[in-house]
Amino acid sequence: MDYVIPLWVPMAVAVVGTDARFPVRRIYLVGRNYPEHAREMGADPSREEPFFFSKPADALVPGGGEVPYPPLTDNYQHEVELVVALGKGGAEISPGDAAGYVFGYAIGLDMTRRDLQAALKEKGRPWEMGKAFDRSAPIGSIHPAAAVGHPRRGSIELDVNGVTRQRGNLADMIWTVDEVIARLSRYVRLEAGDLVFSGTPAGVGRLIRGDRLVGRIEGLGELRVTVI
Ligand code: MN
Repeated sequence: MDYVIPLWVPMAVAVVGTDARFPVRRIYLVGRNYPEHAREMGADPSREEPFFFSKPADALVPGGGEVPYPPLTDNYQHEVELVVALGKGGAEISPGDAAGYVFGYAIGLDMTRRDLQAALKEKGRPWEMGKAFDRSAPIGSIHPAAAVGHPRRGSIELDVNGVTRQRGNLADMIWTVDEVIARLSRYVRLEAGDLVFSGTPAGVGRLIRGDRLVGRIEGLGELRVTVI
């Protein structure tokens, strides 16, 4: 096949224990999936249906590192999240089967232009430009489920300049990873190569240039990002 413009290389994420990488098709994210974070966003943390949004695959920053402060915001914020990497496709997946579709897990950051998101939300417009911007999704290496199992509890934290800002436990999710996969797969058919960011615990906050972020999830190591 010939193309009229040069074909781009798919985004891919390092996998622990192999030189082979995980190619990324789509990125889905679930909103407000920890009760204390729902409260800090002014929402009711009761079990309303989970809601989803997307980022383009090329928003990823594999391995973290230096990330430029994005344009058109004065309120650039961090959200540390457990990322689920799917190794198999399916639709209408049941929660009991969901783990069988997972290739592995990583630490991710759902970087957010909170001021844009809030303004768009207030006008009933899509959040997209608050969420789906360039380099808005730093991600650490993927740990295969074959090695680490399926983390459903354990600490999730984010430090900024050595001070812990976000702290939670995977067990606090309003909708479990299995339920998130099941619900999402009713809206769209999921495929191998899809990533699902599973929501952030409380403590999101504003960043400035020079800030050093360290995300940690028990069993999944660290992800380091510096805002430049
Ligand atoms: Mn998020």
